Amino acid sequence: MITESQLTVMKSALRKYGRKNQVIKAIEEFSELSAILSKYACHDLEKDGYDKELHDKIAIEMADARIMWEQLYELILPASTMIRVDKAIESQIHRLEDKIQNDKKP
Ligand SMILES: [Mg+2]
Repeated sequence: MITESQLTVMKSALRKYGRKNQVIKAIEEFSELSAILSKYACHDLEKDGYDKELHDKIAIEMADARIMWEQLYELILPASTMIRVDKAIESQIHRLEDKIQNDKKP
């Protein structure tokens, strides 16, 4: 959960570094998360065992991505759009639920 004081710091970052730099930073952080998730997907838990270092890196990249995600919310989405995002989440969750029920196990 993001606290009010954490949100204040994020808003300060937006003001200090500006829209363009923070959007570029968000792209970088999402790319870093993608890269570490690729490693996680390829990690063979049965063969290689639990990898604490990998999990620590994932936690850091998820935190970085979340921080940038919150800034994008502040930057891009006015309140009226947030309602649309909430509705989209609801419909996407229903879609995911249907997919889970209908897909065969990979
Ligand atoms: Mg990062």
